[in-house]
Amino acid sequence: MAEVSLHAITRRFGPTEVLRGIDLEIADGSFTVIVGPSGCGKSTLLRILAGLDAPTSGSLHIAGRDVTGLEPAERRIAMVFQNYSLYPHMSVRENMAFPLRSLRMGRAERAAAIDRAADILRIGDLLDRKPAHLSGGQRQRVAIGRAIVREPSVFLFDEPLSNLDAALRGQMRVELAELHRQLGTTMVYVTHDQVEAMTMAERIVVLNGGRVEQVGAPMDLYRSPATRFVAGFIGQPP
Ligand code: ADP
Ligand code: MG
Repeated sequence: MAEVSLHAITRRFGPTEVLRGIDLEIADGSFTVIVGPSGCGKSTLLRILAGLDAPTSGSLHIAGRDVTGLEPAERRIAMVFQNYSLYPHMSVRENMAFPLRSLRMGRAERAAAIDRAADILRIGDLLDRKPAHLSGGQRQRVAIGRAIVREPSVFLFDEPLSNLDAALRGQMRVELAELHRQLGTTMVYVTHDQVEAMTMAERIVVLNGGRVEQVGAPMDLYRSPATRFVAGFIGQPP
């Protein structure tokens, strides 16, 4: 079953058509990577999924429900950005509690949700620290921990590893794959990095100039590129 379903999504900024009619089905529990060159509309598409931006036309369903006009908080979607966006004046625990502020939860229930997420991300010993006292990898883990406390049905990642050095990036790729296995939640991961897409994805969506060029398993795209662009862009296998 499709967890996320996009129908004829367009987005214009003034005269510029950034998304030019996106039709896409994302299967429940899958790890999908949207890959494409800088400026092709990846972040715009992800922001529309999250409800941070609205399409000019088209519709969007999540878990069978039309969410096209709904606020982010009404969508059970969590988004992780490349710049972590942690609150510097708050401890890790307070950062992780922040997405729960609007929910009716008792103190114990809230603490349990944070402990559960901290356990999964192995950041239980960092809960009282401020972001300034964390390494890049730890910050990224906290950002992901903060995203999972609300138990979303879909995770969106916008180039979450692009600020990390190569070694840490490799480690975080493995950890994200492990997180996906553990949670079984639908994940949509955006990157401009072909190698990252080829190694992480169950399914790849190649985006170019606001259009979907091809959707498929990594090796299918490599062996049978549908367009010249895909052939040139996917290049080498992992
Ligand atoms: P990507 O994430 O693939 O690099 P984006 O979705 O960020 O691409 O941007 C796609 C295009 O849309 C770019 O040309 C960008 O300048 C333009 N764009 C994005 N957001 C806005 C905005 N709020 N106003 C005007 N143009 C925008
Ligand atoms: Mg982007």
